[in-house]
Amino acid sequence: MANHTDKPLVKCRVDGCLKKQRNRLSPLCAAHARRKRLTGDPLGSYIPISTKNPVIKEASRYIINNQGAAPIEAGLKWCGIWLQSGSSTGAEWRDKTPQQTVDSLILRLHESDVSPVQVLATLSAYYFLYNHRQGTFRSDDHFRYQMVKALLALAPLPVVRMARVSGYLERPVYLEMSPMIISKGFDTLRLETLMLALKIADKLNEPDEWQHKIIERMRWPVPDHS
Ligand SMILES: [Zn+2]
Repeated sequence: MANHTDKPLVKCRVDGCLKKQRNRLSPLCAAHARRKRLTGDPLGSYIPISTKNPVIKEASRYIINNQGAAPIEAGLKWCGIWLQSGSSTGAEWRDKTPQQTVDSLILRLHESDVSPVQVLATLSAYYFLYNHRQGTFRSDDHFRYQMVKALLALAPLPVVRMARVSGYLERPVYLEMSPMIISKGFDTLRLETLMLALKIADKLNEPDEWQHKIIERMRWPVPDHS
């Protein structure tokens, strides 16, 4: 007797991938499903430190230079409130719900003295890469996933267990961000904070900001002959 469960598995949705879908509920093969779970996109990757760090640094500098301006002042206040919004149930990481995991991670950021400037600069830098560096992200999901992950990982991610490598050797296994955790994490951010980060990203893209930066870089130290 034929019914829908007898339908053969179809090909993975990713162009050029010849593997079969992982199961009937997933349009992706196992490898592409895993990559989507880890990065937010079936073809996504992590954003290299060499790509993101200079922009985060630039955003921090802009925020610090303009922290007297009313919108920046308000944004830093919201980020401060966000950093204090964490909490912990004391449950083991594996027993926590995605919401509890997010709350615990925010508490860790607060306890690690992550500053409101770091929070706002990270968000601004990711909006900059998203809007002004085409090709950094493969999709909106990839962007959102990488941004929230970068934010929640401003303090090193917790070790959830030790894995046996061989004999007595063990290695730490760090908490893995699931799409549910990322989605809950995104929900904790105020829309106003995101809008401000977007505006800061646009400021970073203004030619005078970059010209200023290039001029700074060209200022070689003058040799001292005295
Ligand atoms: Zn595939």
